[in-house]
Amino acid sequence: MSLADVLDRAADGGRITYDEGVRLYREASLHDLGAAAHARRMALYPTNDVTYVIDTTINYTNVCNVHCTFCAFFRPEQHGEGYTMSHDRVLERVKYAADQGATQIMIQGGVNPELRITWFEELFRRVALEFPNVDIHSLSVSEISGLAKVEGMTPREVLVRLKDAGLKSVPGAGAEILVERVRKRISARKIVPEAWIGIMREAQLLGMPTTATMMFGSIETDEERIAHLQVIRDLQDETGGFTAFIPWYYVPYKTPLRGREASGLEYLRVLAVSRLFLDNLPHLQASWLTPGLKLGQLALFYGCDDMGGTILEEQVVHDAGGGNEATRAQLEQIVRGAGFTPVIRDTYWNLRTDLALATA
Ligand code: SF4
Repeated sequence: MSLADVLDRAADGGRITYDEGVRLYREASLHDLGAAAHARRMALYPTNDVTYVIDTTINYTNVCNVHCTFCAFFRPEQHGEGYTMSHDRVLERVKYAADQGATQIMIQGGVNPELRITWFEELFRRVALEFPNVDIHSLSVSEISGLAKVEGMTPREVLVRLKDAGLKSVPGAGAEILVERVRKRISARKIVPEAWIGIMREAQLLGMPTTATMMFGSIETDEERIAHLQVIRDLQDETGGFTAFIPWYYVPYKTPLRGREASGLEYLRVLAVSRLFLDNLPHLQASWLTPGLKLGQLALFYGCDDMGGTILEEQVVHDAGGGNEATRAQLEQIVRGAGFTPVIRDTYWNLRTDLALATA
């Protein structure tokens, strides 16, 4: 089958195989990929809206016993620069975000074995009580797995307890590339891909929406990028529990792994192939935090229908030597500049016109 036929089928929402995905990624021109991905995005969302969520990321601890080589954020246990925020400090940050209209907070950090499940339960209960309009979209699969180990529980038991305390949804962090060869090379102490999938499945079966991510550009091959997409697509076929896919690229500057930063063209290629391959995932996010707002704007023509969050505070990507910042006005300006209409959503993709900027 010709490349054009595969692109046409994918643009129409038809399924492409792993081999076709690899072929598209390697051989299709960026313009053809972008045109097909954009056609698919516009067929799914013909209103011209581009959504975003007002949110913040609170990196509550940098102490971590996983020691990923691509991470410049963590500090090993007992390190002098290790920190863990008090509950009051986290609550202050939630208040700061809530005062700016945030409807979602992402509390995420290292896998800190000093923190017990009660620490999280108390924190989530306080957040839920004091900020009932803010959804707790928090903890990576690695943190949930770490808590399960510390407590001698199953990940499902941990999820049930945290859900009861106020956890509403689980972000897709900690996946990187769900291929064992890659995990062994860049995060040997992290849970294996099957365990990541298992915890996501449990969260989804408990009724918590989740997102899926891909950190690309470290040591993986083109084939492994598509293999990662295949894992996400397979689980989505089974559960339908992913709301969005968020590819972002590795920032190498201050990490032990080092390496190079992905190019803008590579970023757009990954986005377009993701939109075409993941025929069962509703939303594709432009992860502008690493590539910046201008490339984030271009992403809207490569399959993305969502600008992600305002990310009012974030430390992990900044510590690796990257990271960008944007006000809501800047984010909206970027969306309008591309000819789309910015629309605020919440974690569940409910549109929140009540939170629109006065100038919008
Ligand atoms: S990426 Fe997460 S799990 Fe890995 S070392 Fe950094 S904080 Fe720890």
